[in-house]
Amino acid sequence: MEKTLHGVGVSHGVAIGQVRHMGTAVLEPPTTQIPTEDAPREQARAQAAVEAVAADLIARGNLAGGEAQAVLEAQALMAQDPELMADVSRRIAVGSSAERGVYDAFAAYRALLASAGEYLAGRVADLDDVRNRIVARLLGVPMPGVPDSDEPYVLFARDLAPADTALLDPTLVLGFVTEEGGPTSHSAILARALGVPAVVALPGATDVAEGTVVAVDGSTGDVLLDPSQGKQDELRAIAAERKAALAASSGPGRTSDGHRVPLLANVGGPADVPAALANGAEGVGLFRTEFLFLDDSAQAPGEEKQVEAYRKVLEAFPEGRVVVRVLDAGADKPLDFLTPADEPNPALGVRGLRTLLEHPEVLATQLRALAKAAEGLPVHLEVMAPMVADRKDAADFAAACREAGLDAKFGAMVEIPSAALRARAILQEVEFLSLGTNDLAQYTFAADRQVGALARLQDPWQPALLDLVASAAEAARVAGKSCGVCGEAASDPLLAVVLTGLGVTSLSMGSASIPYVRTALAKYTLAQCRRAAEAARAADSAEEARAAAQQVLSGE
Ligand code: PEP
Ligand code: MG
Repeated sequence: MEKTLHGVGVSHGVAIGQVRHMGTAVLEPPTTQIPTEDAPREQARAQAAVEAVAADLIARGNLAGGEAQAVLEAQALMAQDPELMADVSRRIAVGSSAERGVYDAFAAYRALLASAGEYLAGRVADLDDVRNRIVARLLGVPMPGVPDSDEPYVLFARDLAPADTALLDPTLVLGFVTEEGGPTSHSAILARALGVPAVVALPGATDVAEGTVVAVDGSTGDVLLDPSQGKQDELRAIAAERKAALAASSGPGRTSDGHRVPLLANVGGPADVPAALANGAEGVGLFRTEFLFLDDSAQAPGEEKQVEAYRKVLEAFPEGRVVVRVLDAGADKPLDFLTPADEPNPALGVRGLRTLLEHPEVLATQLRALAKAAEGLPVHLEVMAPMVADRKDAADFAAACREAGLDAKFGAMVEIPSAALRARAILQEVEFLSLGTNDLAQYTFAADRQVGALARLQDPWQPALLDLVASAAEAARVAGKSCGVCGEAASDPLLAVVLTGLGVTSLSMGSASIPYVRTALAKYTLAQCRRAAEAARAADSAEEARAAAQQVLSGE
């Protein structure tokens, strides 16, 4: 039976496919004792699960080939280790269930490995993965982590963390649906980076049965369960029509009367560059460098590795602008070697620039790597700091940039209300501002961006947020400096028109949104953008602001 669920659409397009759930961490199986006569049956279950997991790992290795095959085969061997299996059997013989026996035997083996020196300790994560797979199979729950699937699917999850999504195969993920997360959560950002439709804050997402066919409309936020063939065809036709209209849009961002608003891409690394170029990005407005640091959260990547990654992005935009944000660790992007583990409120703790000022060597390495990467390239390099709170922060960052001998413009992100309110003072120290509306909304409304239930307050149409944007943009205008938006607000075509009217000088977004924003901007004059902005600011809620802007622009 067709049924529609409603969430918040955060990445345009329509995806139709089967649901695969992101497996959650394996629960610890209960310790209840089983009767002795059940032991042979439980031993057989354990044996069968181990063999199935090993066979699956080998099959996936054959498909993957190369280095991945060697790792997966080693894991299959671990699963079948005779000593481990003997321990599982012993534990079952004295009253453990199959799942508990596996869980405890692996725990004992894990402790042994962990204490056995660096090489073996490095394999603990692989061992945990094998254990999770066997226990999940025995419990009949989805495998933990990214789904095992050779067929394209729509990924359903409670929420997605950057570390989870690093393992996703973008050729298999048709779209995302999450129960938690707001319009500015990492699930939303990642979906836009991959250019796949996504809906977040969808109540009941985790209860939708595995394998259900769904149609996800990332523009409206609707998720249809079991759509009829007719409905699927209709949605596909609408999506194709929208796509064709967008494909016809090209060229730099401008209003219909020629006011230029450069349209830039948000990227996480060199892998995002092809999509940015394909969508006509005029440069990069936000290079989130923390993705380079996620591979190994125990230490910073070496200077040379950083130089290589930065250079690849800089080379892609020979005459363009590339705005690199220095590492933004902490809160929703923790790094083991930098982020304190015991903060009561990580979002209000030592994060972003605060972390870098406490670890000047990490900042200095990054700035040196950027200086080297830009050497000899005609690119306009700009470097900005996340989470600047006041003039002193901006001054400290600018000093670090100068010390590293960086030939670039230095800027500050405006993500904290204090920075928006005192933008004039901050502009005494730096050459540009970039509004991070995701965090700016989070801190203005005291609404955690990861909590789906607070999506209303994270809505970038909230007039209070528009007021802060206007105030920062005005300070930049007076100072003769630029003030862009690189938060997710820029990817909403109607809001992009309003932001332009508020005086924002460039818009940076996930590449897939660029054609939508370009098309919207080209429909209106700057004066219309300004009138829409005024109407939105005069409203008292996000919905009213959106409706008011729409009304002005449709000339009603
Ligand atoms: C923001 O906060 O708006 C922003 C662009 O940074 P991030 O989403 O990476 O925190
Ligand atoms: Mg931010």
